[in-house]
Amino acid sequence: MDVIRPTDALIVVDVQNDFLPGGRLAVEGGDQIVPLINLMIPLFDNVVYTRDWHPADHVSFADEPEYRDGSWPAHCVQGTAGAEFPPNLKISRDALVVDKGDDPAVEAYSGFQATSLDLAAWLREREVERLFITGLATDYCVLNTALGGVAAGFEVALVEDSVRGVAPETTREAMEELRRAGVRVTTAAAISTAVAVSVATGEEPEPPATSEE
Ligand SMILES: [Zn+2]
Repeated sequence: MDVIRPTDALIVVDVQNDFLPGGRLAVEGGDQIVPLINLMIPLFDNVVYTRDWHPADHVSFADEPEYRDGSWPAHCVQGTAGAEFPPNLKISRDALVVDKGDDPAVEAYSGFQATSLDLAAWLREREVERLFITGLATDYCVLNTALGGVAAGFEVALVEDSVRGVAPETTREAMEELRRAGVRVTTAAAISTAVAVSVATGEEPEPPATSEE
């Protein structure tokens, strides 16, 4: 059970139309994670959405894509419908949207590689300590965003039922790499707030502490 604290952040990685079924670089089952992410969003004070945000001539685009690092079909081109969030994804108020991969010459799988904003500094400013990572795809942008979080000194948990990978082999490798890096695995069902837990158990939530003046 992960009881969410004000110092936690939910990172929603690249849940964009092109990565969902029917998109240009569709991840199988990518649409299945959207309802789980929607359930978690209201539990967090800090929600960050990353977006792949490529120029039309991005270095990762290939005419005959091999669907591996460095050889993708054109996807998430800035200003196109494929780069948008799906209409059924909840976008919380005050959320941060981080665009990455906007330099035509540089691949950027991690939200921590964004050039428009220093994500680690933004999180530290809000006194965030733990990151819960969800989204697409496990073997590329989820993997690298989680590793970027570890490198920046955050405690990182992967929400395992709320991610999907491009390919089974690279997804297995990614999960091993994450474990080696000290990333913990949790599930959407295990994430709750203290209030939600007390409702589920039929107990009254603890009243907020008051100070006698
Ligand atoms: Zn990309």
